Amino acid sequence: MKKIISLLFILCCIVSCNTEKHPTKTNINQDSSFDQFKEHFVLRLWELYPGWASSQGYHRYDSILVVPNQEQRNKELDFCKANLDSLKTFELASLSDNNKTDYYMIEGQLNSAQWYINSYKSYEWNPSDYNVCGGFAEMLANNYDSLDTRLHHFYLRMKNVKAYYETAKQQIKNPTVEHTQLAIDQNLGGASTFDIDVKAALEKSHLGTKEKEQILERAAEVKATIGDYAEFLKDMKNESPRSFRLGKELYDKKFEHDIQSSYTADEIYQKAVEHKTELHAQMFAITKELWSTYLKGKKMPENKLVAIKEMIDVLSVKHVPADSFQTEIEQQIPRLVNFIKEKNLIYIDPSKPLVVRKEPAYMAGVAGASISSPGPYDKNGNTYYNVGSFAGWDKARIESYLREYNYYILQILNIHEAIPGHYTQLIYSNQSPSIIKSIFGNGAMIEGWAVYTERMMLENGYGNNPSTDSGQASKEMWLMYYKWNLRSTCNTILDYGVHANNLSKEDAMHLLIDEAFQQKAEAEGKWKRVSVTQVQLCSYFTGFKEIYDFREEVKKKEGDKFNLKQFHEKFLSYGSAPVKYIKELMTQETLNSKK
Ligand code: ZN
Ligand code: ZN
Repeated sequence: MKKIISLLFILCCIVSCNTEKHPTKTNINQDSSFDQFKEHFVLRLWELYPGWASSQGYHRYDSILVVPNQEQRNKELDFCKANLDSLKTFELASLSDNNKTDYYMIEGQLNSAQWYINSYKSYEWNPSDYNVCGGFAEMLANNYDSLDTRLHHFYLRMKNVKAYYETAKQQIKNPTVEHTQLAIDQNLGGASTFDIDVKAALEKSHLGTKEKEQILERAAEVKATIGDYAEFLKDMKNESPRSFRLGKELYDKKFEHDIQSSYTADEIYQKAVEHKTELHAQMFAITKELWSTYLKGKKMPENKLVAIKEMIDVLSVKHVPADSFQTEIEQQIPRLVNFIKEKNLIYIDPSKPLVVRKEPAYMAGVAGASISSPGPYDKNGNTYYNVGSFAGWDKARIESYLREYNYYILQILNIHEAIPGHYTQLIYSNQSPSIIKSIFGNGAMIEGWAVYTERMMLENGYGNNPSTDSGQASKEMWLMYYKWNLRSTCNTILDYGVHANNLSKEDAMHLLIDEAFQQKAEAEGKWKRVSVTQVQLCSYFTGFKEIYDFREEVKKKEGDKFNLKQFHEKFLSYGSAPVKYIKELMTQETLNSKK
């Protein structure tokens, strides 16, 4: 998402970036200068990337659509260089922890932006990079401003659509077959924004007849331009298309930039492979123990994986009825809160309760559960736990879904999404407010924390069997947890395998279906996803592994003095920064306090 700025303007920007009065090293208040720098930085960032700005709730540049050509990329490169230079004028060691992590995150973002332009170059091989529909659809669907104003900006923004797709056609060289198909599907799929959706919006608006006509006319042109782009892609001669597999060299670098882990891609892959073996061993041990309780009289299959699968299927039958899915989630939240208090695991601010709601209409279609949190420009907004509905689903589909999110997994899902997972992490990150962390928040840290808490809760006895009340999570709960954890573990193996190791589709299906116990449809969906994305599938396991390993390290070092609650609170106090920087700061702090 980029925009047009005149060359003159960008030159002004670069000059002012370089000549801004950044403090000399003798300046005592590095932090307040750094705060000023950040403020300027973000404003310039939004000027340069208006589409990104809109998506974060900053709507000043909504009427601008950037043409993603070489000129624009040069502006972006200049911006990166100027700001990397500015960063160097600060003395990192004298900044607060909050600013230190912000410093690292800005630096990481700028290095990453340079790499994407100079090395990754998806503007050449990924035709689905070019799609204007989402940004326009957002302007109609979201009511941050009056409908008339949004429609007016919608009209102005359409001006560059033709130039946008002309640039796309010129730049695409030897694309992958998969991304070409994706681009055709997504562009044609989104084109209704310029037809049905805009018409519906115009009917509700108070604009004059003349302006309405102008908008409709331009929207029709846009729709035609999009259709033309799809035709261009269908007809394009592409005799030796590029492989959708990224290749090891680019993959390793993308992993570095996207995840910001202290592990390399190779290391995390090895860890995932080892972890899978451990999980299978643990799952088989439980299956043996539980077999006579659930499958008495039936011979246990020789093949360990087949035996585990049968046990999982039997346990999955225990689930809530469809009509009490949301109520069950609502009732579990206070149980989770009480458990955490009782076991002294982390402080949870009682003044910010979580609101569970039926998912709003615009999110419909994606069942399941998700957290929506207010963006950086909507500080007073509520945080919701959205629960999907089964409206329009047939019985078989509902049953299959309920078995997937059965009695056990539903509890793990609530830990992950809500407490002490995403929701709790969010409360902590809001306590050290940083616009940089809201914009560049590290996905591996955020997901890793949620995945870490699943295991941590079970280790502390959540999900015990009330009839035995041993204070320990039940065997059934552990088995289902392991199955759940296998998903993120195998996603990592799949992603690295496909992009860096040439893993075949057949082997990938075996991994997902036989070794991770996924349904065929789910596995097929994963294959589709891995053929058009890279690295993102690794973020869950990588973050989890880093946090878990770090905790074990600290535990070992501190021995009897280790306090889990303190560890959690300290860890979260740094906000959504990459785990490697949190580790560095926490380690330094304990070193300093021991001096
Ligand atoms: Zn059932
Ligand atoms: Zn998550």
